Parts: sequence; C-alpha cells; structure tokens
Amino acid sequence: MTDCLFCKIIAGEIPSDIVYRDDEMLVFKDIAPKAPVHLLAIPLRHIENLDDLDGDAQALLGRMLGKVSKIAHDAGLAEGYRVITNTNAGGGQEVYHLHFHILGDVRQATWAGM
Ligand code: AMP
Ligand code: ZN
Repeated sequence: MTDCLFCKIIAGEIPSDIVYRDDEMLVFKDIAPKAPVHLLAIPLRHIENLDDLDGDAQALLGRMLGKVSKIAHDAGLAEGYRVITNTNAGGGQEVYHLHFHILGDVRQATWAGM
C-alpha cells in the first residue's frame, strides 16, 4: 500500500519512535499522545481495520494481542493500560491501517470520552 502512512513507517520511509518490532508487528509511539504513554501496535501486513479480516488476519490479531501485555509492562504500564482500535469514520478512524492504541494512565488522558 504505497499511499498508506503506516506502511511507510514500516518501510522506514517516515521516521517513528519504535519500541518493539518482530516479524509480524511493529509498535511505535503515537506522534500526538492522548495519554502519558500512547503506543500504536500495527501488523506489518496491511489490514485496513476490523471490517477487513480474513482468517489469517484474525489469527494475526490474536497473536498481536497476546504480546501486548509484555510490551505494555516494558513501557512501564504495570498499573494497567487501555487498548482501543477505531473502525471507519463512525469509529473515529483516521489512518486506514489497523492499529491498536495502547494507552497508559488514562486518568490523565485528553482523548474525548476518556
Ligand atoms: P486513528 O484515529 O485511530 O486512526 O489513530 C491514528 C493515530 O495515528 C492518531 O492517534 C495519530 O496521532 C497517529 N499518527 C498519525 N501520524 C503519525 C505518525 N507519523 N507517527 C506516529 N503516530 C501518528
Ligand atoms: Zn498500510
């Protein structure tokens, strides 16, 4: 997906502050954090959102969620964290490459509804 911002981050064409990477996912800091810790976890494979899941994508997202706990704890979120994915315009999605927001200390968050 040449036009996709997050595919460009994966390719290293756009700089990002990476905190974790393996052969199927990347985690980096949100450029406009809505909480004291705000990470984005994305699959290396371009998937638009939860409306765009085949069987392989479902399994991939399951594996990604299975790694979130260690990533969050390594980011200092031993007290807890929130995981969100926005889907399509009605869900507030702005970047159409599926991402899990990992937010820490949401008591200080600035995101509407938090
Ligand atoms: P969403 O509204 O769920 O699609 O979230 C998109 C997120 O991507 C927002 O929280 C943005 O702040 C974040 N974002 C946009 N551009 C970048 C970038 N270049 N690097 C890191 N995060 C970004
Ligand atoms: Zn993409």
